[in-house]
Amino acid sequence: MSKITRRHFLTMATGAAIVGCTPIIAPFAQKKVVIIGGGAGGAIAAKYIHKADPTIEVTLIEQNKHYFTCFMSNEVFGGSRTIDSIKFNYDGLRQQGINVLYDRAIGIDPIAKKVELALGKKVDYDRLIVSPGIDFKWNTIEGYNESLIEKMPHAWKAGSQTIILRKQLENMKNGGTVIIAVPPKPFRCPPAPYERASQIAYYLKHHKPKSKIVILDANNKFSKQALFTKGWEKLYGFGTDKSLIEWVPLDDEGKVVGVDAKNMTVFAGEFENKHKAEVINLIPPQTGGQIVMNNGLTNEDGWCPINPRTFESTLQKDIHIIGDACISNMPKSAYSANSQAKVCAKAVVAALQGKEMREEPSYVTVCYSLLGKDYGISVAGVYRLQDGKIQAVKASKGVSPLNASAEYRKREFDYAHSWYNNLTFDMFN
Ligand SMILES: Cc1cc2nc3c(=O)[nH]c(=O)nc-3n(C[C@H](O)[C@H](O)[C@H](O)COP(=O)(O)OP(=O)(O)OC[C@H]3O[C@@H](n4cnc5c(N)ncnc54)[C@H](O)[C@@H]3O)c2cc1C
Repeated sequence: MSKITRRHFLTMATGAAIVGCTPIIAPFAQKKVVIIGGGAGGAIAAKYIHKADPTIEVTLIEQNKHYFTCFMSNEVFGGSRTIDSIKFNYDGLRQQGINVLYDRAIGIDPIAKKVELALGKKVDYDRLIVSPGIDFKWNTIEGYNESLIEKMPHAWKAGSQTIILRKQLENMKNGGTVIIAVPPKPFRCPPAPYERASQIAYYLKHHKPKSKIVILDANNKFSKQALFTKGWEKLYGFGTDKSLIEWVPLDDEGKVVGVDAKNMTVFAGEFENKHKAEVINLIPPQTGGQIVMNNGLTNEDGWCPINPRTFESTLQKDIHIIGDACISNMPKSAYSANSQAKVCAKAVVAALQGKEMREEPSYVTVCYSLLGKDYGISVAGVYRLQDGKIQAVKASKGVSPLNASAEYRKREFDYAHSWYNNLTFDMFN
């Protein structure tokens, strides 16, 4: 057995490394941040923690090798975008020095501070950030369950679901009906079902003009409603006999309560009114992703309570939740997730460096919706911490003007694409 000398012992005890003859004493063991989910929140948290302190080991656990953005996925239905244009990989993050593990996190041990992966590995962390997006409440609609998602696609996670729904629209006869079933709030991206209706209407108008979209809604109001309806009037004859879009709110029996998949029929409202369609885009009610649901990080509604200053869970120490899964008082959007990830990254780095996060956080979100070619609308807000809550700064919040010119709508359309390019560049480069 080799003898341990005094110098050898000191080297091991302090974690010192010897380069040539000069000992470099590392004052503490390397800190580890693990991030579950490489989407709009997780990719940004990984990148910004690594940027802020490259001595921190950052590991990103992502179950898929490619990420398809939900944002702009509605344009695939309109026909102005291909599925490949919303597909990204993690090479850029790897090249920056982030460990990317392709695996599914299946368990979190908050005492031992380990994440368990489906392939059997366990990964240690000092701080864990979880940004898993959403999952669905299956079996809340009679006759409907997970086995039906190819027949009645939700397309609320982009990728194969987007392709299925697009193909169904292509295969539909001219004169067919498309149902979009909107779940009760809260759900991922409040304006997105109505943007989807617009994009599908755009496709139908140009390829299958005798067809129709019926939005069966479990809500009475929706985001940017006045702007959407004005746009639909102008572009798709909304409110007339020839309208390509019909909207059925909760109070008019809009909530889907059951399905008969064999006969492509849904039942809506108290009286279970029958609606038959060629294409049924059923968006189920939602919760935070499985990993937060199964590991004691959610409230009874399936969403994660957090400290809004740091995004640390109020239920488990040293675990932070960002993006759609957290309760933030911001819309569940990619831009919100991006903004939250940056605040969270700052808080995590400060904590690992043993410092106070002095800055008062500020959060921002802008959500564009594209109603047709050269027709964009938006809602934006800047948020700050007030009375322990993330709250919109009054003068900052608002939607684009109702009576804007065609040129203004075109500008918003262009801004939306520019926003998309910037956001995805920020995530993956
Ligand atoms: C149709 C549609 C249109 C939208 N349009 C917009 C828009 O215009 N603007 C906007 O700002 N937002 C938009 N959104 C919302 C936006 O997509 C989400 O709010 C955003 O992606 C949330 O980010 P996230 O990090 O919480 O989740 P995600 O971006 O979904 O990322 C979650 C990641 O975690 C991974 N994951 C989950 N569980 C595990 C696990 N156990 N182990 C390993 N990996 C896991 C997933 O594979 C995924 O990659 C839209 C959404 C939809 C559905």
